[in-house]
Amino acid sequence: MKENWILDIDEISSNLKTDVNNGLSTEEAKKRLEKYGPNNLSEKKKRTVLSMLLDQFKDYMVIILIIASIVSLFLGEITDAVIILFIILLNAFLGMIQENNAEKSLESLKKLSAPVSRVLRDGKVIEIESQYLVPGDVVFLEAGNFVPADGRIIESANLKIDESALTGESIASEKIAGKLSDKNLNIGDRINMVYMGTIVTYGRGLFVVTETGMDTEMGKIAKMLDNEDKVRTPLQIKLEQLGKYLGTGALIICAIIFIIGVMEKRPVFDMFMTSVSLAVAAIPEGLPAIVTITLALGVQKMIKRNAIIRKLPAVETLGSANVICSDKTGTLTQNKMTVVKVYTDFKELDLNDQYDNKADFLLECSTLCTDAFIDDKGKSFGDPTEVAIVSVFEKNLSKKSDLENKYPRVAEIPFDSDRKMMTTIHKAHDNNYKVITKGAFDNVIERCKYILKDGKIENLTDDDKSKIKLENEKMGNNALRVLAISYKNTDDIPERLSSDDVEKDLIFIGLLGMIDPPREEVKDSVKICKMAGIKPVMITGDHKITAMAIAKELGILNKGDMAVTGRELEAMTDDELYKKVKDISVYARVSPEHKMRIVKAWQRNNAVVAMTGDGVNDAPALKQADIGAAMGITGTDVAKDSADMVLTDDNFATIVAAIEEGRTIYENIKKSIHYLLSCNIGEILVLLIATLAGMPMPLKPIHILWVNLVTDSLPALALGVEPADKDIMTKKPRPKNENIFADGLMFRIPIEGIMIGLVSFIAFLFGLRENLTNARTMAFAVLTFSQLSQAMNARSNKSIFKVGLLKNKYMVLALAVSIFLQLVVILTPLNAIFDIKNINIYDWDIIVLLSLSPIIIMEIVKALFFKTK
Ligand code: ATP
Repeated sequence: MKENWILDIDEISSNLKTDVNNGLSTEEAKKRLEKYGPNNLSEKKKRTVLSMLLDQFKDYMVIILIIASIVSLFLGEITDAVIILFIILLNAFLGMIQENNAEKSLESLKKLSAPVSRVLRDGKVIEIESQYLVPGDVVFLEAGNFVPADGRIIESANLKIDESALTGESIASEKIAGKLSDKNLNIGDRINMVYMGTIVTYGRGLFVVTETGMDTEMGKIAKMLDNEDKVRTPLQIKLEQLGKYLGTGALIICAIIFIIGVMEKRPVFDMFMTSVSLAVAAIPEGLPAIVTITLALGVQKMIKRNAIIRKLPAVETLGSANVICSDKTGTLTQNKMTVVKVYTDFKELDLNDQYDNKADFLLECSTLCTDAFIDDKGKSFGDPTEVAIVSVFEKNLSKKSDLENKYPRVAEIPFDSDRKMMTTIHKAHDNNYKVITKGAFDNVIERCKYILKDGKIENLTDDDKSKIKLENEKMGNNALRVLAISYKNTDDIPERLSSDDVEKDLIFIGLLGMIDPPREEVKDSVKICKMAGIKPVMITGDHKITAMAIAKELGILNKGDMAVTGRELEAMTDDELYKKVKDISVYARVSPEHKMRIVKAWQRNNAVVAMTGDGVNDAPALKQADIGAAMGITGTDVAKDSADMVLTDDNFATIVAAIEEGRTIYENIKKSIHYLLSCNIGEILVLLIATLAGMPMPLKPIHILWVNLVTDSLPALALGVEPADKDIMTKKPRPKNENIFADGLMFRIPIEGIMIGLVSFIAFLFGLRENLTNARTMAFAVLTFSQLSQAMNARSNKSIFKVGLLKNKYMVLALAVSIFLQLVVILTPLNAIFDIKNINIYDWDIIVLLSLSPIIIMEIVKALFFKTK
């Protein structure tokens, strides 16, 4: 290990062969990437396609069937054995493709939320994926970032880093750029170094990368840890259990069929093959893969609607969400701020009309107190509130850089959403500094002792304060965001800057009012929420009056709803909040810490809460919420990392869209389950009835396996991508932990299964009038086709004509392929291999009628018993 902390920056740069002012060149970075490899903690080995294929054969029943067919190969049943093996291979192959697709789409999801870093390359600041960082890169850090690699700090502006992931120390440590003298320091004491995976909680900084990937301190730990296991959703876990029960049930019935068959003196080996084939067909082994694919495809659809799911279980939870707590700025509003009003010297100036030079001093001070900037091409960087200030300044006065050259910044206390203020200190003359503080009105005015009247500094009286307060309220009522601006002159700056020492005895200059128009699409989304039984709640750091004005405009704050401030919230006990929370639609002037209480109070009321957030301090609430939604554009790495979902457009409407997708995905998974289980019941039943009735077996093992192949995958997958029901957002949210067999499935599955079994058996009886081959052909055909009818039935509790016969084009395709395959087997010479024969037109009529009867019957049942709009 190199003791980089005892070196000065020149030594480090020459060791790393880099230039801290310009960073590496793109070419050099490329070479180093080849040499050092990507900046990743090596992940668990991915499953290869071959291992996925082999996994398909892990199922006991499949292994038994393979052994059985090899035995029958030796006993001379060559054709049957070969076909069985072929079908099993085909099935395994399909299973592998499904799993591979599911895994790939989950993989690409991970890539979408890959972390990025701001680095200096070729003298320019660019953003790159953190995995491409190399030693020697110069990287920017700001509050909310994860440190992307290990390195030595070159610049620190109040940089504080939470290193608990490495050191266990929960208090963030202050970082400096100077060199240290002690060689033997623990990680926690190396205060001029930063380490991968730790969190910047405050301030800004610049560091040069010394180690990447597995060479980092985190990498050393990662070597010792086993990486995360696959995450499964609650539904997947429940289905796994259900699958076990159903599998056992199917096995028992197969065993019964076998025992009765043997007692009836049927050939033991035939009975064995039949029962094992039936078990393979009837055990819903494809279910987990279908569910994963449906989830993965649904998640892909969500991406198109700007929601990236980071944790798969969120997809299901979304369907139950009944409260959305949303930030205001940028999520409900456009975050396109424009300064429209300036209030100084007790006069309100409307900048929409024309510029007035009385605003000069206020704009100069507020511009100096910003981190935002606008480049030569007019592109803006930084917080929109600050961009608005810089742009009004540059439009009417001069370049921000000229102003900064005149008053260089020497220190700062950054903005944070608890203090709701920001202070910068600038050199004015030799030993004279100008302190500028801007921030939320209430917080700034509290710290002002003087006021600037007509260019003179005077005491700030109560009378002055009430006048300014009235103006603040007026601006708020017009939905303006208000910032108060103040300053003071000083001769010395304390070595350690603290808010209490610096942000006091300030001179009030005036107010800035800026508009941030609501997002148009949010109005519709709020309406949808109300129809869908979801309560939208606004949580904002902004002033109560501003917040209420916007909430009213959006339809969030209605008659009888309450708006409370952070202070009022603090005065409430948890029990009071628990009782009132349902009536509160707006929380204003809150700090991120309050969000946690709000989530918990809702959860005590049994609600499923979605909560948005962007800052470091939002992370705990994002974790606590049932669905934490982080902002994709303005969100910090930490917020994104704690969230279940990332909104790539920071938009409230996206949450509502994701809920709609979440509901649809859940419904579709239910449809696949409905379909597969009812079909399996049908398959078991045909054979059970025949066995009990002492009749010949209606289906041979190859038939059973073929039916399983043709009917199981495609229609079940197509059900997984059914388009959203147009009523989906008019229903109340699905209760948490609702049984998957709710909504009539408890009845529909067995009844429809019995129907499939019966029609197939009736077909068999019809066919028996001629001979066994004819009967088997008919049973084989009807069992397949009636299951395909069942796929149509399972699409909805509504009439399929209302749903739209051809609306799901994947279903149309799936049915067409399945029908085609079945016809090929019956009508072509292949029928000889399957031991069936082509049948006459009269029998075909019966096949069609019997196969369609499940639809006809269910249409009548739906019309009579299922009350749907
Ligand atoms: P939300 O996104 O939760 O709706 P917000 O963006 O309105 O919240 P914050 O960013 O916490 O909330 O801002 C709270 C208040 O702090 C604002 O109303 C404003 O008065 C003040 N403020 C915001 N940005 C700055 C800034 N860059 N400098 C100084 N004060 C600011």
